[in-house]
Amino acid sequence: MSNILELKKIGYSYHSLQGETLALQDISFGIKEGEFVAIVGPSGCGKSTLLSIIAGLLKPEAGTILVNNPDGSLHYPHIGYMLQRDHLFEWRTVYKNAILGLEINHMLTEERLAHVDQLFIDYNLEKFKNKRPSELSGGMKQRAALIRTLAMDPQLLLLDEPFSALDYQTRLMVSADICHLIRNAGKTMIIITHDLSEAISLADRIIVLSKRPATVKKEIPIQLTLQDDSPLAARNAPEFADYFKLLWEEMTNES
Ligand code: ADP
Ligand code: MG
Repeated sequence: MSNILELKKIGYSYHSLQGETLALQDISFGIKEGEFVAIVGPSGCGKSTLLSIIAGLLKPEAGTILVNNPDGSLHYPHIGYMLQRDHLFEWRTVYKNAILGLEINHMLTEERLAHVDQLFIDYNLEKFKNKRPSELSGGMKQRAALIRTLAMDPQLLLLDEPFSALDYQTRLMVSADICHLIRNAGKTMIIITHDLSEAISLADRIIVLSKRPATVKKEIPIQLTLQDDSPLAARNAPEFADYFKLLWEEMTNES
């Protein structure tokens, strides 16, 4: 399959009165349609910066991003961005939160609202539409945030450590669950995580970044033999331990 996005020699520095911080250097990789890519790397290496560049929120200082839609069109993919915290507003109901993006972007059409209604049913949140975010569990809030993101019908989802505010057990369930939903929706996804097991269990390919300035240290395609599609199956796959060891070595060797 062809790449929908291709990063070529991307570089970026932050400039401040204190001087220059080189965050990204010579980053090149492609993203295929429908692919799940995980990005891992040391804290502060430039992961969020890279995601902001892909989202178009920051302009690269060097390099280019090529767009290559399978149908030959040249539009940049529609992007949905999900952050570490769910960023739901307490003064709005869960439903009103879910349609916030549509409202702001003047996209409140009948068709899109029907899609949102369907997502509430699919994600088992229908009974909670009129609740306030604080009445929901952590996992439910992330689902609500996902509905808000998917309501805009993005082609490419960018997730920046979306599960790190959840406790370990919830996180195992919610991460598997959310990724299952995103796959079923046929979306392409780039996820940043510092959890190596999460990266192995969710991604088709893992990109390991070096310490700052981030460069691509290694790309690891992941193929797991799965017995069933339960949330924890990936972690019990026979190849899991070897991938973990390989990733661990990449993350800990400094060369
Ligand atoms: P990561 O997400 O991998 O933890 P970031 O992309 O957030 O890393 O940041 C990469 C580096 O750039 C860090 O050293 C950080 O301190 C610096 N940085 C991030 N944002 C800014 C900013 N707005 N101004 C100056 N430096 C920044
Ligand atoms: Mg970050």
